[in-house]
Amino acid sequence: MSEQRKVYLDHAASTALDPEVLQKMLPYFSVVSGNASSQHAWGREAMAAVDEARERVAKGLNASPNEIYFTSGGTESDNWAIRGIAEAHAEKGKHIITSAVEHHAVLHTLKALEQNGFEVTYLPVDRLGRVSVDDVVSAIRKDTTLITVMLANNEVGTIQPIREIAREAKKRGVFVHTDAVQAVGAIPVDVKELGVDALSLSAHKFYGPKGIGALFVRNGLKIGRFLNGGGQERTMRGGTYNTPAIVGLGYAIEKAVRDLQKNAEYVSALRDEFVKRVLSEIEYVDLNGDVGEGRLPSNANIGFRYLEGESILFTLDLNGIAVSSGSACSSGSLDPSHVLLAMGVPAERAHGTIRFSFGKENTFEDVDYVVETLKQTVKKLRAFSPLFSARGGSNV
Ligand SMILES: *Cc1c(COP(=O)(O)O)cnc(C)c1O
Repeated sequence: MSEQRKVYLDHAASTALDPEVLQKMLPYFSVVSGNASSQHAWGREAMAAVDEARERVAKGLNASPNEIYFTSGGTESDNWAIRGIAEAHAEKGKHIITSAVEHHAVLHTLKALEQNGFEVTYLPVDRLGRVSVDDVVSAIRKDTTLITVMLANNEVGTIQPIREIAREAKKRGVFVHTDAVQAVGAIPVDVKELGVDALSLSAHKFYGPKGIGALFVRNGLKIGRFLNGGGQERTMRGGTYNTPAIVGLGYAIEKAVRDLQKNAEYVSALRDEFVKRVLSEIEYVDLNGDVGEGRLPSNANIGFRYLEGESILFTLDLNGIAVSSGSACSSGSLDPSHVLLAMGVPAERAHGTIRFSFGKENTFEDVDYVVETLKQTVKKLRAFSPLFSARGGSNV
């Protein structure tokens, strides 16, 4: 019996650590053991690695090293940026603007701020998941201090018009934070060109280690301290440096940015072939989100009518294929995705949706295997689906 094929199509949830990046990290788990804040040779060696990594991250974003703060990942960066900016500017006003399709790291941080007297406007999105710049402008008030809109969506891959939003915000003296966790390494991300004041990223979304990320904070922007402690990160975020992870982040972003064009072309070719085949070979399917330039190269979000996403996910899992239904972060709850609902996808169709996110190690043979498995899976599940037999019309 041949071994079962394994195909990982959940890169939007996390990616495997790049072996070259792992090699760069290894000495910092053992040989280079000092605390980067210590004043002896051991400490200096660790701090030199932290400084180098900071330069790599800054270069990857076209920022300055002193605009980069290391964090434990995307969630922390989002929490810090939003709370830190909103609270530091609360004397001007307590109004924040966001979109209905943000990651829960953003939405739940805003919910917590609402408990503390802040007011939040949640902007709608269009059918493709895009925020309108005009809507952002109309929502700005005298007491608005912050706009937080993601650069690219984690469920449907839609890319938001952040540059245009930041341009309008700047004219009106409002700060802009963007959650770029899905964007870094997937599309060009240049903080100067985008014109944003703060930006979140996370290493494990671009083949770096888990549990490490960064927050870009534009020089001169007032932001509150995130962790009280030993004065690390220019006193803004205390805690002993996670040297191996920081080193990994630096090399991962350097490689992701260097290989961006090549990887984006390859991954989008896989994704396009997959989408083309699914749409033509399986009936009653809907592609959610934008096509072409307005979407991340890796993302395909497809609704399978008359089916539950979870049953598709479990059957694919039994066949060695990893995907996500709705948002991985909310799995465990069977609520339909807030992103799809905001895009106007009916709840029953949102329930039957699967996110396929491709990565650089996938192949065209993977695409073929997944399409064939998906065809059988959908056929089998629909044969048992009361929704499908009740849909009216003939059976196929
Ligand atoms: C993964 C993700 C996060 C959370 O990042 P972690 O490093 O896992 O905490 C935040 N925002 C978006 C858009 C994401 O995709």
